[in-house]
Amino acid sequence: MNEITAAAFAAQSEGVLTRRQSFGLVERRAALARLALAVRQNELALIAAISADFGKPEAEVILTEILPVMQEIRHASRNLRRWMRPRRVAPTLATLGTSARVRSEARGVCLIIAPWNYPFSLALGPLVSALAAGNSAIIKPSEMTPATSAVIARLVHSVFPPDLVAVVEGGVEASQALLALPFDHIFFTGSPAVGKIVMSAAAKTLSSVTLELGGKSPTIIGPDADLKNAAKWIAFGKFANAGQTCIAPDHVFVHRSVKGEFLTVLREQIARSYNTGINSPHLARIVNEQHAKRLADLLKDAIGKGAQITLKGQVTGTCMEPTLIEAITPEMDISDEEIFGPILPIISYDDIDDVLGQMNAKPKPLALYVFCKSRMLTDKIIANTSSGSVGVNLTVAQFTHTGLPFGGVNTSGIGAAHGHYGFRAFSHERAILSNHFSALPLVFPPYTGRAKRLIGLIKRFLG
Ligand code: NAD
Repeated sequence: MNEITAAAFAAQSEGVLTRRQSFGLVERRAALARLALAVRQNELALIAAISADFGKPEAEVILTEILPVMQEIRHASRNLRRWMRPRRVAPTLATLGTSARVRSEARGVCLIIAPWNYPFSLALGPLVSALAAGNSAIIKPSEMTPATSAVIARLVHSVFPPDLVAVVEGGVEASQALLALPFDHIFFTGSPAVGKIVMSAAAKTLSSVTLELGGKSPTIIGPDADLKNAAKWIAFGKFANAGQTCIAPDHVFVHRSVKGEFLTVLREQIARSYNTGINSPHLARIVNEQHAKRLADLLKDAIGKGAQITLKGQVTGTCMEPTLIEAITPEMDISDEEIFGPILPIISYDDIDDVLGQMNAKPKPLALYVFCKSRMLTDKIIANTSSGSVGVNLTVAQFTHTGLPFGGVNTSGIGAAHGHYGFRAFSHERAILSNHFSALPLVFPPYTGRAKRLIGLIKRFLG
């Protein structure tokens, strides 16, 4: 581990007790305001960096990287007083004569490990929650987006001292060196495979973890769906960021009776949104050659095993246009691997129970999308499946709602982020019970007549 990392961790650890006293509402709000200002001041540098890293369009950088962070800051600043206030809890029968409260306390020194696909918002979003909850943090951005990581480091170091927030750039080695340290909390966003490595490392020091992972998020289109609406949302959710979105629709199950019409409107929507040639300024690039090759191999494997290309996107280097494929079978790699690119398998179905059976045989996804007018069918799909979140007649927008928990379930993640849920992820909820005139000593030993009678009475009362 390099000396700067060790020094930042040591300084942050030393400051834990002082921060408990001095990092109150006013100071936390001030820290968030400084961060907001720095984000505004670095907007152009961020747009340039993310464009250099993977050609993401400027409007998309603002929409999906800068605005979510600004929104988190605003939401946290406005609600922080309420979130920080100790919560009173009514006494129970056994604790009559006491008062109870829950205090949200900073966990201490936190580690935030970020992925490359939304390199800014997935590093700074969790930082907002960490600071709001009164913690210090070390951020490890992704090595796959080096220009953005450099801007994050410059931005953060320009507003915070390293004993409050530090950024450690680097790859797997830097990440593993950090994971060997006894952090109070680790907030990891990335793949399920690395999530397991993070959780094993956390087990060594019993750090608590929030794991924001990925998976294959299915989309179901019912026979009565508004197909134009479905096409609009699916095209945006799937092809924004060139499909490199954790909650992008991975594949679509469409009822056979509307498949033809859906494909027509989806093609039209893709043409409207992106069809300005291979150099479309509205389409981000694949992050690097290795990922472009991974996607090409997925496609080759599927075609080799009988898949049909319904819409063939042009591919030049890391630029890949939207591609639609059909006739997918379970033997194909694309049926198991998270696609994470602009390839969308379309699978027709006759019986919704078959779809639910297929879904339930796979790991629980991060998101599930349902396009359907029938409330009964929508409810049936939701009740018979599990996923981190559900979007009904829309995709990906659940990420933007600061009042909703954002997270997965089992393979797609543990814990939740955003707004109050993010604050709670970075807080320890400490139970405090104060005695005023508790009657509990009446049942203390020796367990003679009166104590026994009282225990019997309580048992009868509780049924
Ligand atoms: P990744 O797991 O490869 O890398 C994430 C981070 O972990 C990086 O900072 C990387 O340096 C570090 N890392 C990689 N290998 C490591 C190792 N062996 N030991 C320790 N640290 C290691 O993920 P990625 O490719 O950057 O991102 C894509 C994945 O992230 C997808 O699966 C996607 O679904 C998921 N994701 C999830 C969310 C969410 O909010 N749930 C958001 C974005 C991405």
